[in-house]
Amino acid sequence: MAENVNLLTSTQEVIKEALYRLGYDEAMYELLKEPLRVLKVRIPVKMDDGTTKVFTGYRAQHSDAVGPTKGGIRFHPDVTEDEVKALSMWMTLKCGIVDLPYGGGKGGIVCDPRQMSMGELERLSRGYVRAISQIVGPTKDIPAPDVFTNAQIMAWMMDEYSRIDEFNSPGFITGKPIVLGGSQGRDRATAEGVTIVIQEAAKKRGIDIKDARVVIQGFGNAGGFLAKFMSDLGAKVIGISDAYGALYDPDGLDIDYLLDRRDSFGTVTTLFENTITNKELLELDCDILVPAAIENQITAENAPNIKAKIVVEAANGPTTTEATKILTERGILLVPDVLASAGGVTVSYFEWVQNNQGYYWSAEEVKEKLRERMVNAFENVYQTAQSRNIDMRLAAYMVGVRRTAEACRFRGWV
Ligand code: GLU
Repeated sequence: MAENVNLLTSTQEVIKEALYRLGYDEAMYELLKEPLRVLKVRIPVKMDDGTTKVFTGYRAQHSDAVGPTKGGIRFHPDVTEDEVKALSMWMTLKCGIVDLPYGGGKGGIVCDPRQMSMGELERLSRGYVRAISQIVGPTKDIPAPDVFTNAQIMAWMMDEYSRIDEFNSPGFITGKPIVLGGSQGRDRATAEGVTIVIQEAAKKRGIDIKDARVVIQGFGNAGGFLAKFMSDLGAKVIGISDAYGALYDPDGLDIDYLLDRRDSFGTVTTLFENTITNKELLELDCDILVPAAIENQITAENAPNIKAKIVVEAANGPTTTEATKILTERGILLVPDVLASAGGVTVSYFEWVQNNQGYYWSAEEVKEKLRERMVNAFENVYQTAQSRNIDMRLAAYMVGVRRTAEACRFRGWV
């Protein structure tokens, strides 16, 4: 039977289990099993050829019990309402795990930015902000980058919101260019956070990062920076991939060279003849495997063949529920997405704090504060998993949902 890979249902199952183990009743699950609010919008955009194309977008706000909602906006042809809903719930968990005063939010537009001009992207970005402006804002819901969105898109969105608000509103969105109130280190924050949890996980498994063999699926923002950080730490990055194929070299790939050849969508393998498939990449003999691309990559089918000792989910949802069980049973240390990829939103929070203060921090300060939060988060989740004898994903969900559930209780909602 085909495995259930609906992200929303699998997220709901784990949230239910986490709430149950924390001692909450059915009513709390009823409240948290779906976002509080999902806005679906239609955005007309004048295309360069003179035609008008209408795009569909979403903004989901899972819970505002703890504070404003927070989360990225993704531009991708496969965006669906269920995916945006599940991703908003994961943002609640991520914020809980790294202890940020936010609930989860997420946005998405069904489009393929690889086929669009800069002008079309700008008009789409501005149109989306006009369409969702009533439910977002620096104290309501704060967007950020996600798959195929970047600092330029954040800048257009911030500018559009500032016009609507008739106010300069840098705190409306994070992941902005530095000159517009962006934070030092935000662009590399997700990869920086992943690097920190890899170091912590490696300690638990007695693996020395120097000379550890690392495989990274995905060579976009997170995967690219991560490959660089790992090779700077002396690890051997023996495999990387993009949407079209994968590269493998048992002696370690030349990451600086590959980064130099990469395009803005993380494509690099089309330049090389000797490529392997993404399936082969995941099953390579290595110490650390980092899925940093898209959902549902490690499934019940390939989980028995994974050879890594540690799997760190830098992407959102790369491992299915069945695969999580298989990896855990096989003694592989799985660092779940909601923990591993929380570095991005952590530095987004720092950016928002700096915007509110109007006072900006050095790169070192950001890095130090990020390390402190990620190390604490890892330890918290790891100890929860050990002491309760549960898998790391369930442990992360328990740590992640606790603060929101407590806030709902104190507010008298449940
Ligand atoms: N899109 C990123 C995530 O999924 C970052 C969100 C944010 O910075 O608010 O965690």
